[in-house]
Amino acid sequence: ELEKIESGECTEKNGTMGNDSRILVFVRLRPMAKKEKEAGSRCCVKIVNKRDVYLTEFANENDYLRLKRLRGRHFTFDASFPDSTSQHEVYTTTTAELVEAVLQGRNGSVFCYGATGAGKTYTMLGTVDNLGVMVLAIKDLFTKIRQRSCDGNHVVHLSYLEVYNETVRDLLSPGRPLVLREDKQGIVAAGLTQYRAYSTDEVMALLQRGNQNRTTEPTRVNETSSRSHAILQVMIEYRVKDASMNVINRVGKLSLIDLAGSERALATDQRTLRSLEGANINRSLLALSSCINALVEGKKHIPYRNSKLTQLLKDSLGGACNTVMIANISPSNLSFGETQNTLHWADRAKEIRTKACEANEEVHEVPESGTDQAKLLLELQKEN
Ligand code: ADP
Ligand code: MG
Repeated sequence: ELEKIESGECTEKNGTMGNDSRILVFVRLRPMAKKEKEAGSRCCVKIVNKRDVYLTEFANENDYLRLKRLRGRHFTFDASFPDSTSQHEVYTTTTAELVEAVLQGRNGSVFCYGATGAGKTYTMLGTVDNLGVMVLAIKDLFTKIRQRSCDGNHVVHLSYLEVYNETVRDLLSPGRPLVLREDKQGIVAAGLTQYRAYSTDEVMALLQRGNQNRTTEPTRVNETSSRSHAILQVMIEYRVKDASMNVINRVGKLSLIDLAGSERALATDQRTLRSLEGANINRSLLALSSCINALVEGKKHIPYRNSKLTQLLKDSLGGACNTVMIANISPSNLSFGETQNTLHWADRAKEIRTKACEANEEVHEVPESGTDQAKLLLELQKEN
């Protein structure tokens, strides 16, 4: 069996999106950092067959069959990315299908989970030379929109927000905290900037600026806060007409989420609880873990209301949505505990079932001639 694993014979097809409505879970291992090398660390993670992840505490631990039998040391995911994996491959495997679904008026979300420094922001935002999932998704979206016959009909809006210390802030237009309220589309942040995007070119700069607006911790001046959750929402709206000539408005929403460092979720001691900030940050990630637990256990009541983050992610976790989770891990044995914890939650997330995902649409009655709606309909008929 070991030979089979090594030679890649055991390849199984990844879970398919659409008809299968469970959360797809991926793991991405980042390269060893210079600092980690200098600290004398060894690699304690091995990815085999693009699926299996083995945690090895000792350098000579090459017996994967033995590790497979040890609980908490062997994991298997929809795909696992070794440190050589390109941004493009990560995007294509995890998110490309979601973009297609969103263009059909469905909801999709991708979230990155892992300890601080594990590679979440690199995966999501990336760099100018190595664009991450957020930018590649928007790029792909515009390409796909251009390819469709009814070009000019799609409107794309972006919102970028942060949850920090149980406060929601607009990253595109920093100012007063935003209030969450429930409307027919779910939970929305009132007054959030909706930036109309026309092309990809402006988006990377826009998101980088947004990222600079993420709250930084006073004690770590030059570092983007490891305690803030960043959520990019991409809304696509377009019109189609059905057989009875009704104009249908379709809206697809893609949420791309760069979560706060998961190591904070472990620090639940009294001293941390006494610090309001620490407690609040824990609240969001702890609430996320209790929601995941409740969903896995098939509980009727899912405690979304326990935190701002889970309220905002309600759609993505338990609603009609295609959801993807990317767990980011470091290869260093110095992060062994964090890596094991991340893999544990990623493993648990595989059990979550989401509801079947249907297109969000709103039907308008056949309009009387001469009205704006009738003109719109005529335009649509010409376009198609
Ligand atoms: P996080 O957002 O999880 O705290 P970052 O994304 O900021 O972590 O990554 C920490 C450091 O590691 C950054 O300097 C980043 O550029 C680098 N890094 C992360 N993932 C990769 C990768 N796959 N390839 C190359 N460098 C990476
Ligand atoms: Mg980050």
